[in-house]
Amino acid sequence: MLTAQDALDRLKAGNERFATNVRSLDSLLSHARRPDMIETQNPFAIILGCSDSRVPAEIVFDQGLGDLFVIRVAGNIVAPSQIGSIEFSAARHGTRLVVVLGHSQCGAILATIEELGRRSEDQSRNLRSIVDRVRPSVEALMETEIARNPVELVRRAVRNNIRMSVNQLRHGSEVLEQLIQDEGLRIVGAEYSLETGVVEFLDS
Ligand SMILES: [Zn+2]
Repeated sequence: MLTAQDALDRLKAGNERFATNVRSLDSLLSHARRPDMIETQNPFAIILGCSDSRVPAEIVFDQGLGDLFVIRVAGNIVAPSQIGSIEFSAARHGTRLVVVLGHSQCGAILATIEELGRRSEDQSRNLRSIVDRVRPSVEALMETEIARNPVELVRRAVRNNIRMSVNQLRHGSEVLEQLIQDEGLRIVGAEYSLETGVVEFLDS
């Protein structure tokens, strides 16, 4: 199993290929390895990403079959089922890197900002459960000067939301805390740019 640093380096190299329109032969041919993965899997990184159709983890990191354990949910929020999925892969597969992957112009952030402006009654309870988890990242900015600049507000809220998910994962699970302390698990935030295709890692 790769260390967290090696896994991070591999993701960075893969994104560099993606952003420059190159694909590795290994990723392209990875479906040929399918028979070897029937009994087992060894994903080298866990990605908690947004469901946005423009940010599929395997593609933006140029990885293949069996490489990434991916959880996708609008707004890359952390709820118990996301934590459970990450605990499962980290404990079962020995995966040592978790990346929370947010992105520019995230619809969940935009919806939350809109919601704070005017509370809509017709929002379903299910959608509200996502907006409620994003809300603290936006609310913190609403009291500041940034709220007057819509572009900057979205940009900062996206980053806050990524950092909030990272913190929730780092401190919201005894299993993950123990793996961080004893086994070298790392949880990092990253932001994908729809404009450039580049993933910027926020704290590594
Ligand atoms: Zn999104």
